Amino acid sequence: MSPARRTRTETTPPITPVAAFLPSERSLPALREAAARCEACDLFRPATQTVFGEGPENASVMLVGEQPGDREDREGRPFVGPAGRLLDEALALAEVPRPRVYVTNAVKHFKFEERGKRRLHQRPTTKEIRVCSGWLFAEIEALKPQMIVCLGATAAQTFMGPSFRLTQHRGEVITTPWAPFWMATYHPSAILRMIEENVRAAAREALISDLRQILNHVPLDALEAASRPDVVEAAPRPDV
Ligand code: SF4
Repeated sequence: MSPARRTRTETTPPITPVAAFLPSERSLPALREAAARCEACDLFRPATQTVFGEGPENASVMLVGEQPGDREDREGRPFVGPAGRLLDEALALAEVPRPRVYVTNAVKHFKFEERGKRRLHQRPTTKEIRVCSGWLFAEIEALKPQMIVCLGATAAQTFMGPSFRLTQHRGEVITTPWAPFWMATYHPSAILRMIEENVRAAAREALISDLRQILNHVPLDALEAASRPDVVEAAPRPDV
């Protein structure tokens, strides 16, 4: 059955105090380099480095998560930890070629609290999300994706505002000012945190089914036309 489509006109305009860090050239490599020096909010202080998006610069599909996790923070690349492995698996089962999509996060620094040697994920505040959205919207402007898929409520609310409910709108494909096709689905980390096995299995199936919708809107040949990305070496955060 084809997904319901509706047009969303009410939007949350991004505020961009990151403007002082944005480069004059708005290509993805220039943005990545500039974001490595961002200090527009306090999240850069304890984190190891900025984790910018990566993928082909002509990708038709952009996946947006919440923020980097512990492993992503150390490696400087998005979706390389346990959630990334589940995402890879779900994309493979949905027959969406993972190397042909661009992956990024709504917030580019890892927010955490330390418990002994462990660094536990903390949800970014609404203000931190809005501040960092300057980078996300600059990435979208540079990439011009045909379809944006938000992974989790935080990413979706960056676009749709805090009243957006994933439970109500998961899997709906709509038209937005940012891309002709936009959808929100589960974040793989949220699935991994689900305690009951049957609930977790159902959510994993829902994620795969939602990701399958990508091919209803972006033909496989358009996806495959995207060049394979070189592995991007993240720039280390300069000493401050
Ligand atoms: S979280 Fe975003 S806005 Fe804050 S310092 Fe990092 S890159 Fe800049």
